[in-house]
Amino acid sequence: MLRVHPTSNDAWEQLPERIVMQLNDTHPTVAIPELMRLLIDVHALSWERAWHITTRVFAYTCHTLLPEALEKWSVELFARLLPRHLEIIYEINRRFLDEVRVRFPNDEARAQRMSLIEEGPERRVRMAYLASVASFSINGVAALHSDLLKQTVLHDFFELYPAKFNNKTNGITPRRFMRLANPQLTALLNERLGPGWVNNLDELKRLEPLADDAAFHAQWRAVKQANKQVLADVFQKSYGIAVDPNSIFDVIVKRLHEYKRQLLKALHIIVLYNRIKANPAIDIVPRTFIFGAKAAPGYRMAKLIIKLINSVAEVVNSDPDVRGRLKVVYIPNFNVSIGERIYPAADISEQISMAGKEASGTGNMKFALNGALTVGTLDGANVEIRELVGAENFLPLWPYYRGGVRH
Ligand SMILES: *Cc1c(COP(=O)(O)O)cnc(C)c1O
Repeated sequence: MLRVHPTSNDAWEQLPERIVMQLNDTHPTVAIPELMRLLIDVHALSWERAWHITTRVFAYTCHTLLPEALEKWSVELFARLLPRHLEIIYEINRRFLDEVRVRFPNDEARAQRMSLIEEGPERRVRMAYLASVASFSINGVAALHSDLLKQTVLHDFFELYPAKFNNKTNGITPRRFMRLANPQLTALLNERLGPGWVNNLDELKRLEPLADDAAFHAQWRAVKQANKQVLADVFQKSYGIAVDPNSIFDVIVKRLHEYKRQLLKALHIIVLYNRIKANPAIDIVPRTFIFGAKAAPGYRMAKLIIKLINSVAEVVNSDPDVRGRLKVVYIPNFNVSIGERIYPAADISEQISMAGKEASGTGNMKFALNGALTVGTLDGANVEIRELVGAENFLPLWPYYRGGVRH
Protein backbone atom coordinates (compact mmCIF):
# COMPACT_ATOMS: atom_id res chain seq x y z
CA MET A 1 0.00 0.00 0.00
CA LEU A 2 2.80 2.38 0.84
CA ARG A 3 4.57 1.46 -2.38
CA VAL A 4 1.63 2.57 -4.54
CA HIS A 5 0.97 5.68 -2.43
CA PRO A 6 2.59 8.97 -3.49
CA THR A 7 5.65 9.41 -1.32
CA SER A 8 6.15 13.14 -1.42
CA ASN A 9 6.43 14.40 2.12
CA ASP A 10 3.18 16.34 1.97
CA ALA A 11 1.09 13.43 0.73
CA TRP A 12 1.37 11.19 3.81
CA GLU A 13 -1.51 12.97 5.52
CA GLN A 14 -3.69 11.85 2.57
CA LEU A 15 -2.99 8.16 3.31
CA PRO A 16 -6.15 7.63 5.45
CA GLU A 17 -8.27 9.05 2.64
CA ARG A 18 -6.85 6.46 0.23
CA ILE A 19 -6.75 3.33 2.42
CA VAL A 20 -8.33 1.82 5.49
CA MET A 21 -7.07 -1.42 6.98
CA GLN A 22 -9.93 -3.28 8.64
CA LEU A 23 -8.40 -5.55 11.30
CA ASN A 24 -10.46 -8.71 10.95
CA ASP A 25 -10.12 -9.89 14.59
CA THR A 26 -6.90 -9.58 16.60
CA HIS A 27 -4.88 -11.75 14.19
CA PRO A 28 -3.42 -8.97 11.97
CA THR A 29 -2.88 -6.42 14.78
CA VAL A 30 0.90 -6.49 14.36
CA ALA A 31 0.20 -4.37 11.24
CA ILE A 32 -0.14 -1.39 13.62
CA PRO A 33 3.50 -1.32 14.86
CA GLU A 34 4.56 -2.32 11.33
CA LEU A 35 2.95 0.79 9.80
CA MET A 36 4.48 2.93 12.55
CA ARG A 37 7.90 1.35 11.81
CA LEU A 38 7.62 1.99 8.08
CA LEU A 39 6.53 5.61 8.53
CA ILE A 40 9.20 6.40 11.14
CA ASP A 41 12.22 4.24 10.21
CA VAL A 42 11.83 4.02 6.42
CA HIS A 43 10.02 7.26 5.58
CA ALA A 44 11.52 9.40 8.37
CA LEU A 45 8.27 10.81 9.77
CA SER A 46 8.13 12.03 13.38
CA TRP A 47 6.36 9.85 15.97
CA GLU A 48 3.51 12.37 16.21
CA ARG A 49 2.92 12.49 12.45
CA ALA A 50 3.16 8.70 12.10
CA TRP A 51 0.69 8.16 14.96
CA HIS A 52 -1.73 10.77 13.60
CA ILE A 53 -1.79 8.88 10.28
CA THR A 54 -1.79 5.33 11.70
CA THR A 55 -4.75 6.00 14.00
CA ARG A 56 -6.78 7.12 10.98
CA VAL A 57 -5.89 4.10 8.86
CA PHE A 58 -6.88 1.24 11.19
CA ALA A 59 -10.33 0.00 12.16
CA TYR A 60 -10.98 -3.07 14.33
CA THR A 61 -13.68 -5.74 14.17
CA CYS A 62 -13.96 -7.71 17.41
CA HIS A 63 -15.46 -11.21 16.83
CA THR A 64 -15.92 -12.60 20.33
CA LEU A 65 -17.02 -12.04 23.91
CA LEU A 66 -14.83 -14.76 25.33
CA PRO A 67 -11.76 -13.19 26.95
CA GLU A 68 -9.77 -16.39 26.28
CA ALA A 69 -10.28 -15.86 22.52
CA LEU A 70 -8.53 -12.45 22.54
CA GLU A 71 -4.93 -13.00 21.48
CA LYS A 72 -2.04 -12.25 23.82
CA TRP A 73 1.40 -12.50 22.27
CA SER A 74 4.42 -13.39 24.41
CA VAL A 75 6.75 -10.43 25.02
CA GLU A 76 9.67 -12.86 25.03
CA LEU A 77 8.72 -14.07 21.52
CA PHE A 78 8.25 -10.51 20.28
CA ALA A 79 11.65 -9.49 21.70
CA ARG A 80 13.33 -12.39 19.87
CA LEU A 81 11.59 -12.12 16.49
CA LEU A 82 10.35 -8.52 16.17
CA PRO A 83 12.39 -6.41 18.60
CA ARG A 84 11.70 -3.09 16.82
CA HIS A 85 7.96 -3.77 16.80
CA LEU A 86 8.05 -4.48 20.54
CA GLU A 87 9.94 -1.22 21.12
CA ILE A 88 7.22 0.63 19.19
CA ILE A 89 4.47 -1.12 21.18
CA TYR A 90 6.16 -0.07 24.43
CA GLU A 91 6.21 3.55 23.26
CA ILE A 92 2.54 3.39 22.15
CA ASN A 93 1.74 2.00 25.61
CA ARG A 94 3.76 4.66 27.47
CA ARG A 95 1.93 7.49 25.69
CA PHE A 96 -1.43 5.70 25.96
CA LEU A 97 -1.13 5.17 29.73
CA ASP A 98 -0.18 8.86 30.14
CA GLU A 99 -3.48 9.68 28.39
CA VAL A 100 -5.42 7.27 30.65
CA ARG A 101 -3.85 8.82 33.80
CA VAL A 102 -4.77 12.34 32.64
CA ARG A 103 -8.38 11.32 31.84
CA PHE A 104 -8.77 9.24 35.02
CA PRO A 105 -6.44 10.68 37.70
CA ASN A 106 -5.72 8.66 40.83
CA ASP A 107 -6.99 5.46 39.23
CA GLU A 108 -3.86 3.31 38.95
CA ALA A 109 -5.99 0.13 38.90
CA ARG A 110 -7.56 1.33 35.65
CA ALA A 111 -4.18 2.08 34.09
CA GLN A 112 -3.01 -1.44 35.04
CA ARG A 113 -6.19 -2.99 33.59
CA MET A 114 -5.82 -1.09 30.31
CA SER A 115 -2.07 -1.53 29.83
CA LEU A 116 -1.16 -3.08 26.47
CA ILE A 117 1.21 -5.32 28.43
CA GLU A 118 -0.19 -7.97 30.76
CA GLU A 119 2.18 -8.36 33.72
CA GLY A 120 2.76 -11.76 35.32
CA PRO A 121 5.13 -14.71 35.18
CA GLU A 122 4.95 -14.46 31.37
CA ARG A 123 4.50 -10.88 30.13
CA ARG A 124 2.18 -10.68 27.11
CA VAL A 125 0.96 -8.07 24.63
CA ARG A 126 -2.83 -7.67 24.69
CA MET A 127 -3.44 -7.48 20.95
CA ALA A 128 -7.16 -6.52 21.23
CA TYR A 129 -6.19 -3.52 23.38
CA LEU A 130 -3.49 -2.50 20.90
CA ALA A 131 -6.11 -2.68 18.12
CA SER A 132 -8.57 -0.64 20.24
CA VAL A 133 -6.03 2.11 20.99
CA ALA A 134 -4.85 2.53 17.40
CA SER A 135 -8.19 2.17 15.55
CA PHE A 136 -10.65 4.94 14.73
CA SER A 137 -13.54 2.43 14.76
CA ILE A 138 -14.28 -0.59 16.93
CA ASN A 139 -17.22 -2.79 15.91
CA GLY A 140 -18.94 -5.90 17.16
CA VAL A 141 -20.67 -8.34 14.79
CA ALA A 142 -24.33 -8.25 15.95
CA ALA A 143 -26.40 -5.61 17.73
CA LEU A 144 -26.40 -7.54 21.01
CA HIS A 145 -22.68 -8.33 20.72
CA SER A 146 -21.73 -4.69 20.09
CA ASP A 147 -23.69 -3.71 23.22
CA LEU A 148 -22.11 -6.45 25.33
CA LEU A 149 -18.59 -5.47 24.15
CA LYS A 150 -19.12 -2.02 25.64
CA GLN A 151 -20.28 -3.56 28.92
CA THR A 152 -17.69 -6.35 29.25
CA VAL A 153 -14.39 -7.11 27.49
CA LEU A 154 -13.85 -3.56 26.12
CA HIS A 155 -15.68 -1.62 28.85
CA ASP A 156 -12.66 0.50 29.88
CA PHE A 157 -12.05 1.39 26.21
CA PHE A 158 -15.69 2.35 25.80
CA GLU A 159 -15.37 4.74 28.75
CA LEU A 160 -12.27 6.31 27.20
CA TYR A 161 -13.35 6.30 23.52
CA PRO A 162 -17.18 5.99 23.35
CA ALA A 163 -17.37 7.48 19.84
CA LYS A 164 -15.20 4.70 18.35
CA PHE A 165 -17.81 2.02 19.09
CA ASN A 166 -20.35 0.87 16.49
CA ASN A 167 -22.10 -2.24 15.16
CA LYS A 168 -21.79 -4.12 11.89
CA THR A 169 -24.04 -7.17 11.97
CA ASN A 170 -22.45 -10.09 10.14
CA GLY A 171 -23.89 -11.38 6.89
CA ILE A 172 -23.61 -14.29 4.48
CA THR A 173 -23.45 -14.40 0.71
CA PRO A 174 -26.77 -15.32 -0.93
CA ARG A 175 -24.78 -16.17 -4.08
CA ARG A 176 -23.18 -19.19 -2.40
CA PHE A 177 -25.73 -20.12 0.26
CA MET A 178 -28.82 -19.77 -1.95
CA ARG A 179 -28.10 -19.42 -5.66
CA LEU A 180 -25.35 -22.06 -5.71
CA ALA A 181 -26.47 -24.31 -2.82
CA ASN A 182 -30.23 -24.29 -3.45
CA PRO A 183 -30.91 -23.94 -7.20
CA GLN A 184 -34.50 -25.18 -6.85
CA LEU A 185 -35.53 -22.62 -4.23
CA THR A 186 -33.66 -19.99 -6.25
CA ALA A 187 -35.71 -20.90 -9.35
CA LEU A 188 -38.95 -20.73 -7.34
CA LEU A 189 -38.08 -17.28 -5.95
CA ASN A 190 -36.95 -16.07 -9.38
CA GLU A 191 -40.28 -17.19 -10.83
CA ARG A 192 -42.20 -15.15 -8.24
CA LEU A 193 -39.86 -12.19 -7.63
CA GLY A 194 -37.49 -11.95 -10.56
CA PRO A 195 -33.73 -12.36 -9.94
CA GLY A 196 -33.07 -9.08 -8.05
CA TRP A 197 -33.53 -10.52 -4.53
CA VAL A 198 -30.05 -12.16 -4.66
CA ASN A 199 -28.49 -8.70 -4.42
CA ASN A 200 -31.13 -7.22 -2.13
CA LEU A 201 -32.69 -9.60 0.36
CA ASP A 202 -35.18 -6.92 1.46
CA GLU A 203 -37.04 -7.94 -1.70
CA LEU A 204 -37.96 -11.25 -0.04
CA LYS A 205 -40.62 -9.22 1.78
CA ARG A 206 -42.54 -9.34 -1.50
CA LEU A 207 -43.23 -13.03 -0.72
CA GLU A 208 -45.53 -12.04 2.15
CA PRO A 209 -48.71 -11.99 -0.01
CA LEU A 210 -47.97 -15.68 -0.78
CA ALA A 211 -48.12 -16.66 2.91
CA ASP A 212 -51.62 -18.12 2.36
CA ASP A 213 -51.12 -19.29 -1.23
CA ALA A 214 -51.66 -23.07 -1.30
CA ALA A 215 -49.99 -23.52 -4.70
CA PHE A 216 -46.88 -21.70 -3.52
CA HIS A 217 -46.84 -23.78 -0.32
CA ALA A 218 -46.91 -26.98 -2.39
CA GLN A 219 -44.02 -25.78 -4.59
CA TRP A 220 -42.03 -24.70 -1.52
CA ARG A 221 -42.56 -28.07 0.18
CA ALA A 222 -41.60 -29.96 -2.98
CA VAL A 223 -38.29 -28.05 -3.09
CA LYS A 224 -37.55 -28.82 0.56
CA GLN A 225 -38.44 -32.48 0.06
CA ALA A 226 -36.16 -32.75 -2.98
CA ASN A 227 -33.28 -31.19 -1.01
CA LYS A 228 -33.89 -33.64 1.85
CA GLN A 229 -33.80 -36.55 -0.61
CA VAL A 230 -30.46 -35.32 -2.02
CA LEU A 231 -29.00 -35.21 1.51
CA ALA A 232 -30.46 -38.62 2.38
CA ASP A 233 -28.74 -40.03 -0.73
CA VAL A 234 -25.44 -38.45 0.35
CA PHE A 235 -25.79 -40.04 3.82
CA GLN A 236 -26.53 -43.45 2.29
CA LYS A 237 -23.65 -43.27 -0.19
CA SER A 238 -21.02 -41.64 2.03
CA TYR A 239 -21.78 -43.08 5.48
CA GLY A 240 -24.02 -46.09 4.73
CA ILE A 241 -26.78 -44.63 6.92
CA ALA A 242 -30.41 -44.83 5.76
CA VAL A 243 -32.45 -41.82 6.90
CA ASP A 244 -36.15 -41.24 6.28
CA PRO A 245 -36.56 -38.13 4.08
CA ASN A 246 -40.09 -37.76 5.49
CA SER A 247 -38.75 -37.35 9.04
CA ILE A 248 -38.01 -33.90 10.48
CA PHE A 249 -34.41 -32.95 9.70
CA ASP A 250 -33.27 -31.33 12.96
CA VAL A 251 -29.79 -29.92 12.37
CA ILE A 252 -26.95 -28.58 14.49
CA VAL A 253 -23.80 -27.92 12.43
CA LYS A 254 -21.10 -25.58 13.76
CA ARG A 255 -17.69 -25.78 15.44
CA LEU A 256 -17.79 -27.88 18.59
CA HIS A 257 -17.78 -25.64 21.66
CA GLU A 258 -19.25 -26.08 25.11
CA TYR A 259 -21.00 -22.70 24.85
CA LYS A 260 -22.70 -23.76 21.59
CA ARG A 261 -24.26 -26.62 23.59
CA GLN A 262 -24.21 -29.58 21.22
CA LEU A 263 -24.26 -31.50 24.52
CA LEU A 264 -27.75 -30.16 25.26
CA LYS A 265 -28.92 -31.50 21.90
CA ALA A 266 -27.41 -34.92 22.72
CA LEU A 267 -29.30 -34.90 26.04
CA HIS A 268 -32.52 -34.09 24.16
CA ILE A 269 -32.04 -37.21 22.00
CA ILE A 270 -31.38 -39.31 25.11
CA VAL A 271 -34.64 -38.02 26.63
CA LEU A 272 -36.62 -39.01 23.49
CA TYR A 273 -34.90 -42.39 23.38
CA ASN A 274 -35.71 -43.04 27.05
CA ARG A 275 -39.36 -42.17 26.39
CA ILE A 276 -39.48 -44.75 23.60
CA LYS A 277 -37.81 -47.35 25.81
CA ALA A 278 -40.30 -46.66 28.61
CA ASN A 279 -43.24 -46.86 26.20
CA PRO A 280 -42.30 -48.39 22.82
CA ALA A 281 -45.77 -47.61 21.39
CA ILE A 282 -45.43 -43.87 22.15
CA ASP A 283 -46.55 -41.56 19.33
CA ILE A 284 -43.45 -39.61 18.32
CA VAL A 285 -42.90 -37.60 15.15
CA PRO A 286 -39.99 -39.29 13.32
CA ARG A 287 -36.84 -37.20 13.50
CA THR A 288 -33.39 -37.27 12.01
CA PHE A 289 -30.82 -35.44 14.14
CA ILE A 290 -27.88 -34.20 12.12
CA PHE A 291 -24.67 -33.11 13.82
CA GLY A 292 -21.58 -31.72 12.16
CA ALA A 293 -18.70 -30.20 14.13
CA LYS A 294 -14.94 -30.00 14.17
CA ALA A 295 -13.11 -29.53 17.45
CA ALA A 296 -9.80 -27.77 18.04
CA PRO A 297 -7.08 -30.45 18.46
CA GLY A 298 -6.34 -29.61 22.10
CA TYR A 299 -9.95 -29.15 23.25
CA ARG A 300 -10.45 -32.35 25.25
CA MET A 301 -14.04 -31.72 26.39
CA ALA A 302 -15.07 -31.02 22.78
CA LYS A 303 -13.51 -34.31 21.65
CA LEU A 304 -15.39 -36.12 24.45
CA ILE A 305 -18.70 -34.59 23.36
CA ILE A 306 -18.07 -35.77 19.76
CA LYS A 307 -17.43 -39.26 21.16
CA LEU A 308 -20.64 -39.09 23.19
CA ILE A 309 -22.76 -38.06 20.19
CA ASN A 310 -21.32 -40.90 18.10
CA SER A 311 -22.02 -43.34 20.95
CA VAL A 312 -25.61 -42.07 21.27
CA ALA A 313 -25.96 -42.52 17.49
CA GLU A 314 -24.72 -46.12 17.72
CA VAL A 315 -27.27 -47.01 20.44
CA VAL A 316 -30.25 -45.16 18.96
CA ASN A 317 -29.70 -46.23 15.34
CA SER A 318 -29.33 -49.94 16.17
CA ASP A 319 -32.15 -50.41 18.72
CA PRO A 320 -35.10 -52.22 17.10
CA ASP A 321 -37.51 -50.65 19.67
CA VAL A 322 -36.87 -47.27 18.03
CA ARG A 323 -38.30 -48.56 14.75
CA GLY A 324 -36.58 -45.81 12.77
CA ARG A 325 -38.41 -43.02 14.57
CA LEU A 326 -35.10 -41.52 15.70
CA LYS A 327 -31.92 -41.41 13.65
CA VAL A 328 -28.68 -39.68 14.57
CA VAL A 329 -26.11 -38.76 11.92
CA TYR A 330 -22.68 -37.36 12.76
CA ILE A 331 -21.07 -35.79 9.69
CA PRO A 332 -17.28 -36.10 9.83
CA ASN A 333 -15.15 -33.23 8.50
CA PHE A 334 -18.01 -30.71 8.43
CA ASN A 335 -17.06 -27.98 5.94
CA VAL A 336 -18.63 -25.50 3.51
CA SER A 337 -18.95 -28.10 0.72
CA ILE A 338 -21.12 -30.44 2.80
CA GLY A 339 -22.75 -27.35 4.33
CA GLU A 340 -24.04 -26.44 0.86
CA ARG A 341 -26.00 -29.75 0.90
CA ILE A 342 -27.13 -29.45 4.53
CA TYR A 343 -28.48 -25.90 4.89
CA PRO A 344 -31.06 -26.31 2.04
CA ALA A 345 -32.28 -29.66 3.48
CA ALA A 346 -32.89 -28.55 7.09
CA ASP A 347 -36.35 -28.30 8.65
CA ILE A 348 -35.06 -27.10 12.02
CA SER A 349 -32.02 -24.91 12.64
CA GLU A 350 -30.60 -25.38 16.13
CA GLN A 351 -29.08 -22.13 17.44
CA ILE A 352 -29.00 -22.92 21.14
CA SER A 353 -25.82 -21.25 22.40
CA MET A 354 -25.74 -20.04 25.98
CA ALA A 355 -27.15 -16.50 25.75
CA GLY A 356 -24.39 -13.90 25.81
CA LYS A 357 -21.67 -16.18 24.41
CA GLU A 358 -22.23 -16.30 20.62
CA ALA A 359 -21.01 -13.03 19.09
CA SER A 360 -23.17 -13.32 15.95
CA GLY A 361 -23.29 -16.71 14.29
CA THR A 362 -23.75 -17.00 10.53
CA GLY A 363 -25.05 -20.55 10.29
CA ASN A 364 -28.28 -19.17 11.76
CA MET A 365 -28.59 -16.88 8.68
CA LYS A 366 -27.81 -19.66 6.15
CA PHE A 367 -30.58 -21.87 7.59
CA ALA A 368 -33.11 -19.02 7.81
CA LEU A 369 -32.49 -18.03 4.18
CA ASN A 370 -33.12 -21.64 3.12
CA GLY A 371 -36.45 -21.75 4.92
CA ALA A 372 -35.65 -23.69 8.10
CA LEU A 373 -37.38 -22.74 11.34
CA THR A 374 -35.00 -21.59 14.06
CA VAL A 375 -34.99 -23.05 17.54
CA GLY A 376 -32.83 -20.58 19.35
CA THR A 377 -31.72 -18.62 22.34
CA LEU A 378 -31.76 -14.82 22.28
CA ASP A 379 -28.05 -14.69 21.46
CA GLY A 380 -25.94 -13.04 18.76
CA ALA A 381 -27.73 -12.36 15.49
CA ASN A 382 -30.59 -14.72 16.50
CA VAL A 383 -32.10 -11.64 18.13
CA GLU A 384 -32.16 -9.76 14.82
CA ILE A 385 -33.37 -12.81 12.84
CA ARG A 386 -36.29 -13.13 15.27
CA GLU A 387 -37.20 -9.48 14.74
CA LEU A 388 -37.13 -9.93 10.96
CA VAL A 389 -38.94 -13.27 10.62
CA GLY A 390 -41.40 -12.57 13.44
CA ALA A 391 -41.49 -14.21 16.87
CA GLU A 392 -44.12 -16.68 15.62
CA ASN A 393 -41.45 -18.19 13.35
CA PHE A 394 -38.76 -18.39 16.02
CA LEU A 395 -39.08 -21.17 18.57
CA PRO A 396 -37.57 -20.36 21.95
CA LEU A 397 -35.47 -23.00 23.66
CA TRP A 398 -37.70 -22.82 26.70
CA PRO A 399 -40.21 -24.51 27.04
CA TYR A 400 -39.28 -26.35 23.84
CA TYR A 401 -36.99 -28.81 25.60
CA ARG A 402 -39.21 -29.24 28.60
CA GLY A 403 -40.74 -32.70 29.14
CA GLY A 404 -44.30 -33.05 27.95
CA VAL A 405 -46.18 -32.08 24.87
CA ARG A 406 -43.84 -29.81 22.94
CA HIS A 407 -40.79 -31.83 22.09
C1 LIG B 1 -21.37 -20.95 8.44
C2 LIG B 1 -20.39 -21.97 8.89
C3 LIG B 1 -19.97 -22.00 10.22
C4 LIG B 1 -20.51 -21.04 11.27
O1 LIG B 1 -21.59 -21.66 11.92
P1 LIG B 1 -22.20 -21.02 13.25
O2 LIG B 1 -23.48 -21.80 13.46
O3 LIG B 1 -22.47 -19.58 12.96
O4 LIG B 1 -21.21 -21.24 14.32
C5 LIG B 1 -19.05 -22.95 10.62
N1 LIG B 1 -18.55 -23.86 9.73
C6 LIG B 1 -18.95 -23.87 8.44
C7 LIG B 1 -18.36 -24.89 7.51
C8 LIG B 1 -19.87 -22.94 7.96
O5 LIG B 1 -20.23 -22.95 6.67
